[in-house]
Amino acid sequence: MPSPKVFSDVVSQPEAVSELLRSMEQSKSDIHHAWLFTGPPGSGRSQIALAFAAALLCLDSGCSNCNICEMIRVGNHPDVLVLNTERVQISIDEVTEFIEKSIHMPAIGKYRIMIIEDADRMTERTSNLLLKSLEEPPRGTIWMLCAPSEADLIPTIRSRVRRIQLKVPTVESVAQLLVDKYGIGLDLAQQSAAQAQSHVGMARRLASNAGARDRRTQALQAVLGITDIPSAMKSAEVLSKLAESDGAQLTSEQDEFERKELLSRLGVSEDSKLNPSSRSQLKKLEDSQKRRATRSKRDGLDRILVDLMGLYRDVLTVQLAAREPLINVDLVAEVQKLAQETTQAQSIHSIEQIEKVRYRMERNVREELLLFSLTVSLRRKASK
Ligand SMILES: [Zn+2]
Repeated sequence: MPSPKVFSDVVSQPEAVSELLRSMEQSKSDIHHAWLFTGPPGSGRSQIALAFAAALLCLDSGCSNCNICEMIRVGNHPDVLVLNTERVQISIDEVTEFIEKSIHMPAIGKYRIMIIEDADRMTERTSNLLLKSLEEPPRGTIWMLCAPSEADLIPTIRSRVRRIQLKVPTVESVAQLLVDKYGIGLDLAQQSAAQAQSHVGMARRLASNAGARDRRTQALQAVLGITDIPSAMKSAEVLSKLAESDGAQLTSEQDEFERKELLSRLGVSEDSKLNPSSRSQLKKLEDSQKRRATRSKRDGLDRILVDLMGLYRDVLTVQLAAREPLINVDLVAEVQKLAQETTQAQSIHSIEQIEKVRYRMERNVREELLLFSLTVSLRRKASK
C-alpha cells in the first residue's frame, strides 16, 4: 500500500506511518478502536493523529486534496473532534462533555474520531471516566490519545490502546521542512531547528517571529549573568516577565479573534449595550481566556526551562569535548566561557535542578518560588 499523501506532512516518522498503514490494510473495515500516539512535544503527535483520521475517512484513503481531507486539516470535519485543553489539567467537565459527543453516530463519514491532545494532563479520576468509553465505544467511534509517553497514562488505559511511538525528528529534517513548507532561509531554518531541539512548532515560531527569538536570547542572557543572590533574584524576575510576555503574545491574537467572532454572532458591536444573555456569554469567553492566559504563562516558563536545559547541555558538550552539534549556535562564545569557568559536575547539577523545577511546576507548585530557587542554584560559584 503506497503511503497516502496526507502523511507527507508528518516529519520523519516512517516507522509510525507504515505501522498505521499496515493495520489499516490488515483490518480493512474493522480498525482497532483506541490508539495512543506517544512522543515528546513537537514530534507531531496531533499531526499524525489527524493524518490517520484523514486516511480513515477520505474516500481516496487520504488524498490530501479532497473536501474531506481539507475539512480535517482546518478542523471543521463534523466527525473528527479534538479535545485540546487550555488548562494546566484537563477538567472532568471537559472530558464528560467530550465523551457525550462520542456516543453519536458519525455524521457524514464511516467513523467518529475522538482525539485527545495532552492526554497526560488528566487526573486519575478523569482517566477512569474515559476508561469506560475506551472499553466499549459505540460502533464506529475511534479514540486517539496523544501523550509524551505510555507511562503518563494509567495502566488500565495503557492496556486498551494500541501504541504508535514517534521519534524526535532530526534537526536537519525540521530545518528542511521550514525551508520547503514555509519558505524560511536555510541558515535561519537550521538555527531555529537546533534551538527548538527539533520541536516543529517551536522551530517554526522562532524562524518566523523575531520577537520570540529575541525573548529566547534574553532569557538565556539573564541566566548567564547570575553571579550572586541579588542577581539571581533579578534573573528570576526577568524570566517570569519574559514567560508572561511570550505567552501573552501567543494568545492575544487568538483572544481578539474569538471576541470579534462572538460579538458578530450576537449581532452587536464592541460599544453597544449588551443584554444579560450576551453579557453572560461574553463573560464566559473572558473567563476561559483568562484560564488560557494562566496556562500560556506556564507554557512560556516551560519553554524557557527547556531552553536553559539546552544551554547547560551545550556547556557540558564542550566540557566533555563531545562531537555533538550545539543547540545554541548563536551563543558559542558564551557557552565556551561558561564551560571553562565551571566543572562538568556543576553542569550536570544545573541540568538536574532545571529538570526538577519543570517537574514541580507541572504539579502546580508556586512558580515564583521555584524560579528563584532555581536561579540561586544556577549562580556561578566565584572562581578561585
Ligand atoms: Zn482526501
